Amino acid sequence: MKKLLLFIAISISSSTVIAQQKTTITKQESDAILYMREEEKLARDVYEFLYAKYNVNPFGNIRFSEQTHMDRMKTLISTYNLIDPVEKNGDKPGVFVNPIMQNYYNELSAAGNPSLTEALKVGAKIEELDIKDLEDRKKLTKQTDILSAFDFLIMASENHLRAFVRRLKMQGITYEPIILSKEAFDKIIASDNRHPGGN
Ligand code: ZN
Ligand code: ZN
Repeated sequence: MKKLLLFIAISISSSTVIAQQKTTITKQESDAILYMREEEKLARDVYEFLYAKYNVNPFGNIRFSEQTHMDRMKTLISTYNLIDPVEKNGDKPGVFVNPIMQNYYNELSAAGNPSLTEALKVGAKIEELDIKDLEDRKKLTKQTDILSAFDFLIMASENHLRAFVRRLKMQGITYEPIILSKEAFDKIIASDNRHPGGN
């Protein structure tokens, strides 16, 4: 009996391993990668725009972090031979293939224009959006490379969200979540940076 159970356990785990090492991915998985590639560009381009206007952190340092997130998605694009939407437009700042991202860029860069406080709120909102979209897309895959890339981006976005919320506090503003639940948001704010340096 014990032997039989052991046998079952081994066959389950080996089939899981095979499922996680596919070299081709589903449409849902490739869509998720391409979507997040442009969403990381959205973050970088909006922060570049706001940094040019206000010349302060966190925009200054976080925009570099967003570039590494874009690169992380680019690695997956190469691994799975996908067509890179960013390359399609020559990585032109503020220009996106996905109309959803184009709308976000237009709206968010305009929303950050009136004042530094509004700009910092835009930063927090982008990080909330990033966390939500990554969490949703994690449910669509079991591929370990995709999951670990998404987890890395979530960890960084949580650091960024804390940075924007702290900076808003310095302006006398208590930021309330717009996209995440209050419970999820409070949990993120209460925890420490898991990666020193805010990456
Ligand atoms: Zn990011
Ligand atoms: Zn970020």
